[in-house]
Formats: sequence, C-alpha cells, structure tokens
Amino acid sequence: MHYPEPIAKLIEGFMKLPGIGPKTASRLAFFVLSMKEDDVLDLAKALVNAKRGLTYCSACHNITDIDPCRICQDKGRDRSVICVVQDPKDVIAMERTKEYAGLYHVLHGAISPMDGVGPEDLTITDLIKRLEDEQIEELILATNPTIEGEATAMYISRLVKPSGLRVTRIAHGLPVGGDLEYADEVTLSKALEGRREL
Ligand SMILES: [Zn+2]
Repeated sequence: MHYPEPIAKLIEGFMKLPGIGPKTASRLAFFVLSMKEDDVLDLAKALVNAKRGLTYCSACHNITDIDPCRICQDKGRDRSVICVVQDPKDVIAMERTKEYAGLYHVLHGAISPMDGVGPEDLTITDLIKRLEDEQIEELILATNPTIEGEATAMYISRLVKPSGLRVTRIAHGLPVGGDLEYADEVTLSKALEGRREL
C-alpha cells in the first residue's frame, strides 16, 4: 500500500524506535494524524527539547541537563564510592532502590569483541582519571550479568586492583543474561547489599 509521502516519512520515523514494527508504526502515525494540532506540536517540541536540552555529565557521563549533573553536584552523597554501570538507564534503576547514595560512572556500553566494542570505546580512561583525582575508597562494578558485562567488570578490576582500591562486584541475585534496568528494586537492593570483593 502506498502512503502519501508525509505519512510514509512518519511511519519510517516510528520504525526507527526499538520494538516498533511496520504495523505499530503505521498505527502510531495514523493516531498522530487524529490528534489535535496543539498536542502534536507539544509532542514534537518535547522530542526536540529532550534531544537538544540534554548532554553528558563531564564527570560521570550520565545524561543530564546541567553539567556536572545533579548527582555529581549533590553534597549529600557519599563521594568515596563510585558505582560503575553500563547505561544511563541503569543509574535510574539504582536510584529507584534508594539504597545507594554514592556517585556513578556510566560506561556507555560493555566490552564486546563480537560487536567490535573495545575498552577504548567506553569511558574507562575517564574513570581511571577520576580514581586518581578523587578520594575514592570503593568501586562497585554494577555492569550487567551478561558475558559482556562480566568481561567488562573483570577488565576494570584488573586495571584498578593494583592500586589497592577496594573493588566489589554486585551479587548474582540478578537474572543471568538480564539487564540491570529490568531488575526490580528488591532484587537490585539485594544484589548491591551482597556485593563481593574482587
Ligand atoms: Zn555526573
């Protein structure tokens, strides 16, 4: 079926989103057409503002609207602990547990030779620099319980252990192969509580 060009473009746009196939994309596109013009404009503006208004924190690499981010600026947080996670979404998952009050470092991925992702593609160099510059006492490795996540945790551990820093890995209460962001608060709290020394 041939759609008029503007609708075809909209469908194409929706299909770039994760989990959206052609059918859902066309349903969404036609829904947008049925919306009030003001609501469509608000949605378009929200999309553009989210993209343009956000940047990465120069300290922890989390997404933020101010730099350094609110967590890095928060004087009430424990500045002697850094929790290393793969994605900004993992920070949100950890924050939801309300059990962790330290700082974060977002790697933006995990080491995966199969996908051509090496340590240099992650923010590991900046992490090492933070460990040298800041008074850190513990590094909690909270990468995902996947092969890539484990490999990344081992890599970082080997890199920083010689400095005598306490390095811990969150416990395996988490479903293997799962993502941190999908773990519920209780599971994640337990994983944090049961972290072991590497
Ligand atoms: Zn930050």
